[in-house]
Amino acid sequence: MGSEYLRDGRSPLPENEAVSRSMRSNKGRNTSPELMLRCALRALGHMGYRLNWKKVPGSPDICFVGKKVAIFVNGCFWHRCPKCDLPLPKTHMDYWSSKFERNMERDKSNEESLKAAGWTVITVWECEVKSSPKDVAEKISIILNH
Ligand SMILES: [Zn+2]
Repeated sequence: MGSEYLRDGRSPLPENEAVSRSMRSNKGRNTSPELMLRCALRALGHMGYRLNWKKVPGSPDICFVGKKVAIFVNGCFWHRCPKCDLPLPKTHMDYWSSKFERNMERDKSNEESLKAAGWTVITVWECEVKSSPKDVAEKISIILNH
């Protein structure tokens, strides 16, 4: 699967500016949508969460351990947000489609393992958080207060 341009194991360089922008905005921890959401949750009095808790599948971004509520803040590009439906990069198409497929499969299997262990799994998208962190936090708050 396109291994000829992946000798060093790194992602091929994106040519499209929109793609490289979404890649930049999605790398690593403490990406901004996650910070925005944490801030909105704190404003509603929800503190005491763990970040990237490694003791459960998928190390959810925000974990309310006592309540068994796991929140994933998904980057729209990497996790293929259905609302944004961002185009695949035009080059190295096979590399990207198999990578995205693996991401989505991993998301799904993490969610299933968490649910099987009695967790409530909440997946929110970067675009939702960016457009209104307060709305997203309020929806989560209802579940946390349940
Ligand atoms: Zn999105």
